[in-house]
Amino acid sequence: MPGASVDDMRRPTISDVLYARQLLSRQLPPTPMWTYPVLNARTSATIHVKHENTQPTGAFKVRGGLTLLAGMDPAERGRGVVGYSTGNHAQSLAYAAATFGAPCTIVMPEGANPAKAHAVRAWGAELVEYGGNFDEARSHAEGLARDTGKRLVSAANEAEIIAGVATVYLELVEQEPELDVVLVPVGGGSGAAAACLVTAALAPGCEIVGVQSSAAPAAHDSWHASECVTRTNHTAVDGLATGSGFELTQSIMRERLTDFVLVDDDAIAAAQRVMMHEIHTLAEGAGAAALAAVLADPSRFAGRRVAVVCSGGNASEREIRACAG
Ligand SMILES: *Cc1c(COP(=O)(O)O)cnc(C)c1O
Repeated sequence: MPGASVDDMRRPTISDVLYARQLLSRQLPPTPMWTYPVLNARTSATIHVKHENTQPTGAFKVRGGLTLLAGMDPAERGRGVVGYSTGNHAQSLAYAAATFGAPCTIVMPEGANPAKAHAVRAWGAELVEYGGNFDEARSHAEGLARDTGKRLVSAANEAEIIAGVATVYLELVEQEPELDVVLVPVGGGSGAAAACLVTAALAPGCEIVGVQSSAAPAAHDSWHASECVTRTNHTAVDGLATGSGFELTQSIMRERLTDFVLVDDDAIAAAQRVMMHEIHTLAEGAGAAALAAVLADPSRFAGRRVAVVCSGGNASEREIRACAG
């Protein structure tokens, strides 16, 4: 939970990441990373797009959910898991719970992306819609976990989740060892912390830049302030919509992240349109945020070898219509 002390939480190591990769190799093939001349021409950089939108749940988070469930003690796993999420962490937990035959309850804010809610039910999880935002859903999930004995699984303050997510970055540095910079969209920070862990060990010269929406800047502001802060959260980009910094991921980002930038929701929507029209990729807003940051500051990236993580493709009906229009 965002307020927990980082001393209570185990920090993931590069060995945890290698172990996670071994576990996941039986479940998920590596995702592709492509470079597209049209994007390179538009940005004057060499852009490599890491396609986590091709995961079975449509987002990178499935790597974390499977790794966490795989590592649980069987008795604890038999009691099940509770998650709170605006969507993709929920799908990841529901998918992993279905894989391991564990009960799963998900709390989503009311009015969550209906496509994501539908997918969670389809994976067999129990869905509870509660509260107006991520943080209200979180408190409700905490209560459910206390009452039912299920394990509460945070989307970010979990060593196994970060280790599982870090397999994205193992693949990425193997697919393209000569990168200058990787841009990572940030909500809770598991992806950016994972990128920090892997590049510290395997690509020490590579910069990592976090990207969040200016309409939900809690992780960005927490990193710049070197302490976890709470901020208003009214971005339409559900993958990036968190209201406070998470201790574990922030403490890892503090050691290694090069920079953390904000882009506004309109710039993210424009990057989604570029991805749809120019590289035939349906990205949800969060999945287009890294490219949006490159498009917003072209001189910073010109002439450089840049990876952008297309973290997910679970665009809502509304987003898809906006892209097409
Ligand atoms: C969760 C999510 C993010 C943010 O990742 P964190 O690890 O929470 O920082 C970015 N993009 C998508 C598609 C997501 O689902």
